[in-house]
Amino acid sequence: MLEEGDIINLPKKLLKAIKAGNVRKFYKSSIWQAIRKQVLIRDNHECQKCKEKGKFSKADCVHHIKHLREFPLLALVLSNLISLCNSCHNEEHPEKLKKYRAGQEEYITEERW
Ligand SMILES: [Zn+2]
Ligand SMILES: [Zn+2]
Repeated sequence: MLEEGDIINLPKKLLKAIKAGNVRKFYKSSIWQAIRKQVLIRDNHECQKCKEKGKFSKADCVHHIKHLREFPLLALVLSNLISLCNSCHNEEHPEKLKKYRAGQEEYITEERW
C-alpha cells in the first residue's frame, strides 16, 4: 500500500510526453492505472467534493488538484489526487468546458481512463 505523501517518480518518457502535450500517453500508462486505483480505494470510490457537501456520488475519475499539464512532477503524488464525479470534475476544469461550449474541442475527460 502506498502512503499519503509518497512521491513516485514519474518515468522520464512520461514526463516528456506530458510536457509535449501528449497526456494520453500518461493516462494509458500502467503506473497511472495503478495509482488511480489506489486513490479510488483511498476515497472509497466516492466523489470527495460531493461528500464535503453531504451528498453521495460515485467517483467517475481521479483528478489532479494541481493540473497535470502545469505540474507534471505532481502527476503521481497521492496528495495531489482526488476522486470526483463527472459534474464536480467539470467544475474543476472550466477551461475545457468553455472550449466545449464554443465547439472548438470535443470534451473528453482523459482522467476517466
Ligand atoms: Zn461530485
Ligand atoms: Zn481533472
